Amino acid sequence: MKILMASSEAVPFAKTGGLADAVSALSLTLAKQGHEVKIILPRYYSINRDKLSPLEGELGVRTGGGEEWCAVYTTDLPGSPKKNQVQVYFIDHELFFGRDGIYGTPWEPDFLDNSRRFTFFSRAVFQFCRKIGWYPDVLHAHDWPAALVPVFLKHGERGSVEFAKTVSVLTIHNLGYQGIYSKDNFYYTGLGWDVFYNAGFDDWNMMNLLKAGLNSADKINTVSPHYAQETQTPVHGFRLDWVLRYRSADYIGILNGIDTSVWNPQKDPYIPEPYSVKEMRGKAKAKAALQEEFGLPVDPEVPIIGMVTRLTEQKGVGEVFGPAYGSAWSICKDMDLQMVLLGSGESWCENEIKSLAYRLPNFKAHIGYSEKESHLIEAGSDFFLMPSRYEPCGLNQMYSLAYGTLPIVRNTGGLVDTVQNYNQETGAGTGFMFDDLTPSAVYNTVGWAVWAYYNRRDDIEAMRITGMKQNFSWEKSAKKYIDMYETALAVVS
Ligand code: ADP
Repeated sequence: MKILMASSEAVPFAKTGGLADAVSALSLTLAKQGHEVKIILPRYYSINRDKLSPLEGELGVRTGGGEEWCAVYTTDLPGSPKKNQVQVYFIDHELFFGRDGIYGTPWEPDFLDNSRRFTFFSRAVFQFCRKIGWYPDVLHAHDWPAALVPVFLKHGERGSVEFAKTVSVLTIHNLGYQGIYSKDNFYYTGLGWDVFYNAGFDDWNMMNLLKAGLNSADKINTVSPHYAQETQTPVHGFRLDWVLRYRSADYIGILNGIDTSVWNPQKDPYIPEPYSVKEMRGKAKAKAALQEEFGLPVDPEVPIIGMVTRLTEQKGVGEVFGPAYGSAWSICKDMDLQMVLLGSGESWCENEIKSLAYRLPNFKAHIGYSEKESHLIEAGSDFFLMPSRYEPCGLNQMYSLAYGTLPIVRNTGGLVDTVQNYNQETGAGTGFMFDDLTPSAVYNTVGWAVWAYYNRRDDIEAMRITGMKQNFSWEKSAKKYIDMYETALAVVS
């Protein structure tokens, strides 16, 4: 199968979140399974042109503003199979992408011309195929920045000979971001106003790119089965629940995988000693190393609660660190435990965490981003706290399970698909779960986990092993993507 991934992010070139990991990992896995995969990205300023090879000639892209020109660069995706390289192409347009930031900067979080930047990019996808004379079976668009790709296919390009047999798939990595802009920008798509209404761009007198994409794609998916259900309800649907209910026959959830070459306690360069279900000694060493790294007393008996997170509303940090009402203070005061956090994000939260760490001897935090420390926290902690408000898939809880660290999670999204709640009667489960996102629910569930740690140690050890044996490989997920592509293709064949 020939697949073109259209995305605004892909590791190692551009990343702000899980989208970047998923696009590259899925592409590599599909290539290993024998499919022909290419990725197309904007060439942001931060991607060094000198390390890429230019394609000959320029690319003319027709937009509502007339024809505009850009260059195309290319390179291989690192880690590609030798005989079936995943080729990455970059759309190079100085005015739109020659600046700092992917979607914005701290001073301008959402660039005013974002709708134009990504309209141009989505239009360029088709011209790019024409330029290299390669027409994919599946155009796989990711999130709102590429959501116009299915729109352009359905409302125009499929009428051309080249794309007559191409289908589109749109993946939602986070429904909280939809690309809503003034409809003054619509003319730039070059589409007629009939399409504005037929494709459902309209959103309270604005233009919603994701909504139009969801209405136009042949198949839609999101990154976990439970989130696919939740997004069809008003609570988690971000006002698009009815669109997703309308498209429910073509909408599924496919769990993201994890990169087991990077997140594997048997070969992790960031932990002092490898470990596995057969030999767990290395986990105790990782715990000691973690306590040392964060300046906590080295004590094998005290349970450690770890957190690695973006400090934003979505992650439930208000209920843990909110001034006066967050539960972290009482958790650390009342319970015999240690707590470590690595994260960065909203400044109120960073400040509150620094203040708590100053006042609580058993709470330590590093504000910032560190690959090494995130591995050490996953390996060295006994529990991993993830009280997400919503969670399309979530990677950290899967890393935790792979490292024998029991997740304490909210009953939402991908967390439901990956963590089984502890059953005190049978001892079964892989973690601890709560329903309502309130400071007291977080407090009580951490309390429950700590109680089990001190009073049901056999259950805890058995749960660690069950967690480590789970299979979260991309191979499993990639097969489901292929099934989805095939059902989409059945329509045009
Ligand atoms: P999201 O993509 O919504 O932030 P996920 O759980 O899906 O949440 O993935 C987050 C990823 O980012 C994980 O790989 C996690 O380890 C990493 N991460 C988040 N914050 C940090 C940090 N401060 N330092 C290192 N890694 C981090």
